[in-house]
Amino acid sequence: MSEYTRIWKGIKHLIKGSKKDRFVCNKCSQEFNQQHFQIASAFVDKKTQVIYKRLKKYCKDCENPMRAIRHAIEKDPKTPPKPNHCEHCFKKCKPVLHHNHKTGKFVRWACVNCNSRFTKDTFEEYLEEGRRWYDVKIH
Ligand SMILES: [Zn+2]
Ligand SMILES: [Zn+2]
Repeated sequence: MSEYTRIWKGIKHLIKGSKKDRFVCNKCSQEFNQQHFQIASAFVDKKTQVIYKRLKKYCKDCENPMRAIRHAIEKDPKTPPKPNHCEHCFKKCKPVLHHNHKTGKFVRWACVNCNSRFTKDTFEEYLEEGRRWYDVKIH
């Protein structure tokens, strides 16, 4: 049985199989390379006493609920197709999906920079955030 190592959080993990292994996610039923599956629990090989790691049954996108929402929005036919520019700064890039975290609805396509800067979905939320800062008392 072949094995390979994967570095995760600075630690080497031993996994049975090959780096070319492909698995079908139990949730979205899509097939991905093993890299798309995170490391799960450990088990000991009874014969060799070597510790191996299992991989999760859900792919990375389904495992992470935030990503799962994004995943679903991306596949939703109502979502506008991904442009090759950011809808904030119009820079050419591979935009990421900005969605409303409360409603799970699509907001816009934005570059990574703009997406991290414009975290609020509505103007009202921006005002609310601004108010919070102006309430800070400095002694
Ligand atoms: Zn999946
Ligand atoms: Zn941008």
